[in-house]
Amino acid sequence: MANVRANKRSRTQSDDESEGCAIRRTDEEFWYEDGTVILAAGDVDFRVFKGILAEHSPVFKDMFSLPQPPLANGQVSSSCPVVHLSDSPDDIRALLRVCMPKTNSNPFTQDDPSYETIAGSIRLGHKYEICELVDHALGYLKRYYTVDYSQWKALRIVVPPRFQLMHAIGVVNLARLTDCETILPTALYQCCQLDGELVKGFARADGTRECLSADDLALCVAARANLMQESVGIALRICAPVLSLSCTHPAHCALAFNSYLHTGRLDPLEVCNTHPLWSAASMVNGVCQMLCDSCWHMLCERNTSERVRFWDRLPAVLGIEVQGWNAGTAAALQQ
Ligand SMILES: [Zn+2]
Repeated sequence: MANVRANKRSRTQSDDESEGCAIRRTDEEFWYEDGTVILAAGDVDFRVFKGILAEHSPVFKDMFSLPQPPLANGQVSSSCPVVHLSDSPDDIRALLRVCMPKTNSNPFTQDDPSYETIAGSIRLGHKYEICELVDHALGYLKRYYTVDYSQWKALRIVVPPRFQLMHAIGVVNLARLTDCETILPTALYQCCQLDGELVKGFARADGTRECLSADDLALCVAARANLMQESVGIALRICAPVLSLSCTHPAHCALAFNSYLHTGRLDPLEVCNTHPLWSAASMVNGVCQMLCDSCWHMLCERNTSERVRFWDRLPAVLGIEVQGWNAGTAAALQQ
């Protein structure tokens, strides 16, 4: 995304301070010859327009209002000023795509973005107070880390297409950074599915580690025990050996309900795990296949209602409160 170029622009104090980085690259996407400021991030330069950036970001506006440092001879440079940023080139490019889009569309609806793109966008959007950037990236996360059970179930995937499960740690931290509490329950729930990564976190692109805060780690440790209790309770209630009042084959169905408890057929991990939204799923399917139609319908209803009831309780199980949690599904069930 960038071309290597000789640094021929007139020298400034900032340039002198970055001596030793003579070979820099101009960004292919954001280099306007008539641009009014050069943003230097890593080894990449972006030549863009101060006025547009200042319009989006009060932080940039303040930065650009500062007087340019005088040159060695005491005169003020009339060349394009250079602003050195500590951010990564990829993050700055994501920021510019929102501030200076080359199409009118939301960049996060074109393709599924990577976790790094989303995290960088939210962190820089928050740092430079660019609401559109934060809103676009959080909007994408909210599609997957949803408050609504029906929407979550319809996704049929655990994480966004280009995310890994461990990125839930980063999503929790982004939720905390932006006070976006609605994405917390599912992100914390996914953290509870991690093993060693729950404590150790994961390596970011720059080599540093992304970890949960001590408070969120404590929430997850406590929640893992709660989730296992929920899983066991859900499995026992769904597969309780109580037949439908319309059962057509009572002896056969009673045998089917009791069969899963038979020694050797019950896998403890199937029942006792930290994933109550899916726990005992294969066991329920196995029992269903042996039931009459009436008992089968009854078991399916139990299965759905138990998962929905758990979803309603999810924030409480995790030890947090979330306004508006599962309002859509709750309203649908009341109709
Ligand atoms: Zn039956």
